[in-house]
Amino acid sequence: MVQFFRKGKVIHSVRRRNIETAAGFLYADMLTAIDDGHAYFAGDGEHCDQEGCGEKAVVRYKIKKKFCRDGRVHEQFGTQYRHFCDQHKKRGDCGLDDADDNYEEIPIWLDQKAQDIGEHT
Ligand SMILES: [Zn+2]
Repeated sequence: MVQFFRKGKVIHSVRRRNIETAAGFLYADMLTAIDDGHAYFAGDGEHCDQEGCGEKAVVRYKIKKKFCRDGRVHEQFGTQYRHFCDQHKKRGDCGLDDADDNYEEIPIWLDQKAQDIGEHT
């Protein structure tokens, strides 16, 4: 069984006869997962948005400004959030977009409360 994971959850799986066959089909199986819409990499609001981390998010940050690759402020449509686990909640100041100064913490329990009463933010 070949399994593709995202944030610790299986997002795509396929059965192959043996390891040699699985290795031969691996790239094709990855493309099938992408074609089937399983490669959507936006945050889910439940898990940490740090790449490679599958821990549960404990903080929710509102992004103050979006920046282009060349460092200019980019127009932002709507409010965007990022979520991080306890280990990754301190972002530092290395990036413009992904820096402590560019985030406003929004209590994560507010979001949970909205879900409990059936509202969507
Ligand atoms: Zn994390």
